[in-house]
Amino acid sequence: MTAEQRALELRSIPQVDRLSAALPQQLPPTLRVAAARRAIAEATDQILLGEGAPSFGHLVAAATDLLNAQIRRRLRPLINATGVLLHTNLGRAPLSPAALEAVAGVGAGYSNLEFDLSSGKRGSRYEHSAEMLATLTRAESALVVNNNAAAVLLALAGLSRGKEAIISRGELIEIGGEFRIPEIMAESGAVMREVGTTNRTHLKDYADAITPETGAILKVHPSNYQVTGFTKSVPGRELAELAHSRGLVLIHDVGSGLLSRHLPGGVPSWLNKEPSVNDAVEDGADIVTFSGDKLLGGPQAGILVGRTDAVARLRRSPLLRAFRTDKTTLASLDATLVAYLAGEVHHIPFWRMALAGADEILVRAKALTADLPETRATIEVAEGFSTTGGGSAPASRIPTALIRVEPAGGGAQTLAAALLGHDPHVVARIEDGRVLLDLRTVDPADDAVVAAALAAALKAT
Ligand SMILES: *Cc1c(COP(=O)(O)O)cnc(C)c1O
Repeated sequence: MTAEQRALELRSIPQVDRLSAALPQQLPPTLRVAAARRAIAEATDQILLGEGAPSFGHLVAAATDLLNAQIRRRLRPLINATGVLLHTNLGRAPLSPAALEAVAGVGAGYSNLEFDLSSGKRGSRYEHSAEMLATLTRAESALVVNNNAAAVLLALAGLSRGKEAIISRGELIEIGGEFRIPEIMAESGAVMREVGTTNRTHLKDYADAITPETGAILKVHPSNYQVTGFTKSVPGRELAELAHSRGLVLIHDVGSGLLSRHLPGGVPSWLNKEPSVNDAVEDGADIVTFSGDKLLGGPQAGILVGRTDAVARLRRSPLLRAFRTDKTTLASLDATLVAYLAGEVHHIPFWRMALAGADEILVRAKALTADLPETRATIEVAEGFSTTGGGSAPASRIPTALIRVEPAGGGAQTLAAALLGHDPHVVARIEDGRVLLDLRTVDPADDAVVAAALAAALKAT
C-alpha cells in the first residue's frame, strides 16, 4: 500500500461520535465512547500494518463485541448446574436468605460495627461473632479475618515470626494455585522446618526437630488431595501434647470448616474424613483456622478459634488491621452462625443442597426433561455424582441424578457454550462428549430457567 492509499484508508475511518451513536443505546454513553475509541484505534493499527479499512458495519460489530466482553467481565449471578457445591470459580457457598437480610440491614445504613451499645463508647468489630463461634466450637476465644489464607498467615506471623514452625512434608500443600503453605510460611516470617516424608511422618520426627529456635508446630489438613497406601500422620492430640510439653503452640489449619461431627440432621458419610473444628479444638490446638465459605456455608472469611492467650496475641498483630473484614461479611457470618445455634442447618443453602436426596433430584430432572420441546439430541436422566469442590473432601461422591445431553449435530462444547451465553448464564459440565446438568446445585425455583436455557441452546446448536 502506498502512503497515499494508506492516508485515504485512514481518512475513511469514522469519527468516534458517529461510531458510538451506532452502538446499543441502552448502555451508558461513557462506555459506548470508550468502546468506539478502542475499535477505531485497533482499525488504525490494522491500516498502519498494511490492511484495508474495515467497513462501518465491521467497526460497529467490533465495538459491540468489546462492550459485550466488558459487560460479561462484570460480576453477576449465574446458575451453577455443575453439581460442584463449593465451586471456587463460581463463588463457593451461596448465602442464606437470613444472611442476605442481615447484609441488607447492616449495609444500607449505620451499625454498631465498632460501637459498644452498653457503654455508648467505642467497641470492637472482632466481638460480634466471637461468642457464637466459641460456643459452637467449644473454643475459649475467636477472631474473624478475610479468608483462611489470611488466618493461617496471621497465626504464623503472630505466634512464630522469627522462630521455626515445624510441619510434615506430607502437608506442604497448594490450594487453588495461590495458597501454598511454603510461601505463606515465608511471608509470615516463620521459618519452615520440614519433617518426615510425603507419605509418613511420626511423632518422633516432630520431637527430634524441636530446638530453642522452635516457635510452633503447624498441622495442615491436605484438603484437596489424599495420600493412600503406606501412610502415617500424627493426630492433633499427640501434637498438642508434644507442643505444650515443650512450651510451643500448635496451629491446626483444618481448612474446610466442618464445625462439628454432630450437626442436626447428621454429617453425611462422604465427609467422614473431614476433620471437624470441634475435634481440633478438643484435641488441644492453640489455634484452629478454617474458611467461612466452604463447609460452614457462609461468606468468604477466615476464622481463628482457640485459646484466649493465643487469640489475644493475634489481636495485637498489626497484620490484623490489613486482614479485617467489612460489616457485610460480619453480618452474614453472624446470621449463618445463628442458623447453626438454632439447629436450622437446612436453612443454609450449602447444607440444603448437600443433603438433598438423589431421589429428590431425580424427580426434578425428570420433570425438567419431560417439558423440553422435540429435539434431535439424545437426552436422558442417569445416575451420577455431585462433589463438594472448594478443595474439600476430594474423594466425595454424592449420589445424584444427572441430565445427560448428547447433541445430534453441534457437539457438546457448542451446546455448553450456548448455555453459557444464555441470560442468565448456565454453567454445565462436559463428560465423554455429553453435556451434564446436575440440579443439586440449582435452586429448585430456577429449574424452569434451566429448562428454558436448555431448550434455547438445543434449538440454536
Ligand atoms: C481452602 C483452604 C485454605 C485457604 O482458605 P481460603 O478461605 O480459600 O483462603 C487454607 N488451608 C486449607 C487446609 C484449605 O482447605
